This record gives sequence, structure tokens and C-alpha cells, in this order.
Amino acid sequence: MEPTTALIPTTTDPIAIELLFQRQRARAEALRREGWESRAKRLRKLSRWIEENRAAIQQALYADFRKPAAETDVSEIWSSQVEIKHTLRHLKEWTQPRKVGTPMSLMGTRGWVQHEPKGVCLIIAPWNYPFYLAIDPLASALAAGNACIIKPSEITPTVAALLARMCREIFDPAEVTVVEGDKEVATELLKLPFNHIFFTGSPQVGKIVMRAAAEHLTSVTLELGGKSPVIVDDTADLRDAAEKIVWGKGINAGQTCVAPDYLLVQETVKDRLVEEIREVVQRFYDPAGEGVASSSSYARIVNQHHFRRIASLLEDAQAQGANILLGGMVDASQNFIEPTLLEGAPAQSRIMQEEIFGPLLPIVTFRTLMEATDVVNSRLQPLALYVFTQNAEHQRYLLQNIPAGGSCVNETILHLAHPDLPFGGFGNSGLGKAHGYAGFVGFSNEKSVLKQRVGRTGIKTMYPPYTPKVKKM
Ligand code: NAD
Repeated sequence: MEPTTALIPTTTDPIAIELLFQRQRARAEALRREGWESRAKRLRKLSRWIEENRAAIQQALYADFRKPAAETDVSEIWSSQVEIKHTLRHLKEWTQPRKVGTPMSLMGTRGWVQHEPKGVCLIIAPWNYPFYLAIDPLASALAAGNACIIKPSEITPTVAALLARMCREIFDPAEVTVVEGDKEVATELLKLPFNHIFFTGSPQVGKIVMRAAAEHLTSVTLELGGKSPVIVDDTADLRDAAEKIVWGKGINAGQTCVAPDYLLVQETVKDRLVEEIREVVQRFYDPAGEGVASSSSYARIVNQHHFRRIASLLEDAQAQGANILLGGMVDASQNFIEPTLLEGAPAQSRIMQEEIFGPLLPIVTFRTLMEATDVVNSRLQPLALYVFTQNAEHQRYLLQNIPAGGSCVNETILHLAHPDLPFGGFGNSGLGKAHGYAGFVGFSNEKSVLKQRVGRTGIKTMYPPYTPKVKKM
């Protein structure tokens, strides 16, 4: 089929966007008839492009917020490839009709579930992992056989332009297109009757997206944020916990949806844990003793707006009596905020109420697990819950009593990297799941089919005219 490059809208022009949408809708009908092999071909193209453009991806992320190349390798490139390759390995199996058993009452029939593409899908991506969080849902959308429009974040424009170039180079715009722009563009897109919307971003904007989707009864996957707690009890290996907490908080300078947001530590081990964290921060980000700002392993805050927001969370906490235990340095000239540990922030302070989304880690102590559980459950449902313990009963208690989108025990963040673990939030932190089979299902309609043998009827006794025998059933 003819490529339709001329149809890529360059402005918020609603007519151009509508035209692109109609073109994708027409192509979606053709995509519906394709087998899994054609979808696999697209996924392989995507994987190859990523492999060949590794340096360009690293440069784009560095240009947007000085993300270290090694972090880009792991959290943008490798994570995207893991998702694509896992999908390729399982695509044939996932796309086969799934047989179900037959109940006694329907003996003689057969039943199965077949996955069909939803049609034209919209992916709205955030800025914090701007490459991976566009590619990951795209892999699921392609696996499920959809056409797709991607709206990257305007806050990371270099990555947005790179994604647009990628799509121009490997896809027909009638199948996959990037539409660049800010919330004005997103608003125009959201007026269209998409068949599925996959949104990653803040809970506030998630509500706007869901309201717009409701207008067309469009299904949504909402990957949102929130305050993800870390709980460290007195049986935990503190050195191990400190390493994993500092890594989970330090990657992307804390601008990670599943970053540890606040630390709940059992009173008796607080001082030792703080010392371990101090040692790890130095080892990771300041081995030469020249200050974290000179580390090439530590990213910057994405822009002045977010820099001021995070710096003001710190100022506000200090004004309300919080003490800085480690770090605390900020430098507006380069949007730099040091990894910072603080204690004594009141429960009602902004830092304990809002998602931090930066390298500040407030510590709260607890005496009993019930107390820790109450602190977490007094807030909206977190995206992630991290538990550091060597006591199986403590682990069971915390996992059972704290609702959360996902969880790690004696680790941070890594549940996100497991393609067989459905990833997503719960309540305020999201709706629906991504990754692997869960991602494929999210972009598919699970069509249930019951097949009867010709000449056989269902439950004859249910046919009218009704008799007293039917009433007894
Ligand atoms: P955001 O909600 O501000 O923006 C996300 C996307 O929505 C962007 O593309 C933006 O252009 C668009 N947008 C903004 N305002 C809009 C509006 N009024 N109408 C329509 N679209 C609009 O989020 P962000 O600042 O880019 O990202 C940070 C948030 O995302 C944090 O809350 C973080 O926890 C969350 N997040 C969640 C996940 C996850 O997987 N659950 C991953 C990354 C980030």
C-alpha cells in the first residue's frame, strides 16, 4: 500500500488529525485480517531500528535531561528490547484461540476466546522514560494488530523528534505515527473515537483522559503515579537494603514512577540504615569526594518548572521542622538536586502528601508493622510497595495488608522489568495492566465464541412455551 507521509499533522490542526485518524481507521480493517507473522515483522523492524540507533537514543536522552548513557542503555533501550523480544517469543501462542472447558449444562458445544485487534489506539507518553514508555505500549499494540498514534511528551522534545523519525523510517503513517505537541494536541486527539487509549502520566491528567474516553466509551489503560513507600524492618539486611533503595531512588534522579517515595524504617535500625545509605550514596555518586554534581552517573531534573517544584518541597519541609540528614544541595543553574535524606517532615507537609518525583527521600520511623501499614493506608493506593525483611511472617503481613499496584520484596523497581508480571497501578495509581501478555490483552478485544453443532439445540426445556417444569429450574 502507498505510504501516507503527507498525512502526518505538524500542527494542532484538527482537520489534519482527523484525516490521519480516518486513514488509520481504514488501515486497521486491513490489519485485522493479517496473521501473527506480519505483526512479528513490524516488531522485528522496531527492534532492529533500536539496535541500530543506540547512540542517537543515548544522545537524545542526554540532550533532554543529561541522562547518563549507561542509564539509557538499561532503562530505555534494554527494557524496550526485553519487551519486544518477549512479545516476539510468545506472539504465535498468544494469538491462537484459547479453548475453554465445557460445563455439563452446555455439553456438545465448544467454547474458545479469540483475541482481535481493538482497532486504532492512542498512546500518550510522559517525559520521564520518554523512549521506553512509548515503545513498551507500542510493542503490545502492534502485537495485538492495531494501528496506533503516539503522542510523546513535549517536555522531552529531542526524544519526541527521535520517535517521530523512527516511525517515519519504519512504519507507514496509516499504521503507526507520532504526533508531536503539548496538551493542546493531546486535547484534539482525545476528541476522536479511538478504540483504546493507553495513557502514562499523572493521576490528574489520567482523570482528564478517562473523562474524554468516556464520551466514546473508549477503553483505557491508565499508568499513573503516586507515593510508593519502602518499608524496612529490624530483620532486614541493612547494607543490601541501602544499596537497593539508593539505586531505585537515584536512577533518573528520582524521576521514576516507581521510585521509592518515602522510607518507613523500624525505629531501632534507623540510625544504622541512615549510615549505610550515606556510604552507598558516596560510593555510587561521589567516589572521588568532589561532590555528586560532578558525577557522570547522575541525571538532572528535567526542567526549571520541576526543579522549582522539588526544591520547594524541600524548603517547605524544612520550614515545617524537617532535618536534612544527607545531601540537600540544589543548583538552579543546572537543575541539579543532590540525593537528599530528611527526617521529621510532618504527615501533612507537602513532601509527605504529594508525589515527590525527584531525589528527596523523607524518613519516617515506626515501632510496629501495624503502625507502618496505617501510615501507608492513610494515603491513596501506591503504584509500588517495597518491603525489606528477612522474616516471612512480616512479608506476608505487609503484602496482605497494603494494597498497591505491584511490589518487590528485598528489591526496588525490578518488578517492572519482569515481562511475565503484569505492571500497573491500582485505584489512584492506575487502571489496567501493561507488559507481556497483560499488555497484549489490554490492546485486544477478547472475543468469546460458543460453537453449537448444527441440528442440536441448547437446553430444550428453556424454549417457550414455558411449562411448570422450567419454573422449577
Ligand atoms: P503528565 O500527566 O503531566 O503528562 C503526561 C502526558 O499527558 C504528556 O504527553 C502530556 O503532554 C499529556 N498531557 C498533559 N496535560 C494534558 C491534558 N490536560 N490533556 C491531555 N493530555 C495532557 O505526566 P508527566 O509529568 O509527563 O509524567 C509524570 C507522571 O507520570 C508522574 O505522576 C509519574 O508517576 C507518572 N508515571 C507513571 C508511570 C507508570 O508506568 N505508572 C510511568 C512514568 C510516569
